[in-house]
Amino acid sequence: MTHGLGDIWEYTHLNKLDHLSRTHTVNKIFQRVVDISVQNTLTTLQKQPKMRTYCLFKKDVKLERYLTEINSSNTRKFLSKFRLSDHKLEIETGRYHRPKKTPEQRLCQNCGTIEDEIHCLITCKINSSEREQTFARISIQDKTFYHFDEVTKFTYLLQNDNLCDQNIYSFIVKCLENSYAAKL
Ligand SMILES: [Zn+2]
Repeated sequence: MTHGLGDIWEYTHLNKLDHLSRTHTVNKIFQRVVDISVQNTLTTLQKQPKMRTYCLFKKDVKLERYLTEINSSNTRKFLSKFRLSDHKLEIETGRYHRPKKTPEQRLCQNCGTIEDEIHCLITCKINSSEREQTFARISIQDKTFYHFDEVTKFTYLLQNDNLCDQNIYSFIVKCLENSYAAKL
């Protein structure tokens, strides 16, 4: 049995259970099916090269809080696209360059290193002043933040609850705008 429900199917006679036990059993089955579906979805995502960044911070499947808590629909749309790597950073635009650039060739024009989402938010020179202010504010709430490595800082910013913080989502929008403006 693919969902690991054999014990329940084989040894439980649902119609012989009282209401509470039946509800408990049905909930257990439902939760198990949900867990398996979520795991399958995440495993499928991890196999897609374009989804490499998304998988850094997407650890479960549920309605994201930022989609209901951020009032501006433009900001919500912008953040959703960024989380799905639908943006104009070189790591994506280089994909459509002819001849196609390898990931190592998709460089930031200002820094000479690979321009991906982590570079844009965490290390790009273009965004250093915004970064300094935002990270200082974050470190007031979370004193360990400055000790995180680059990937952990990035996933911290994109995590569901943190992304609802205006300080953080405004920083992400501003960094992208700065990076796009620098390409013109
Ligand atoms: Zn850069």
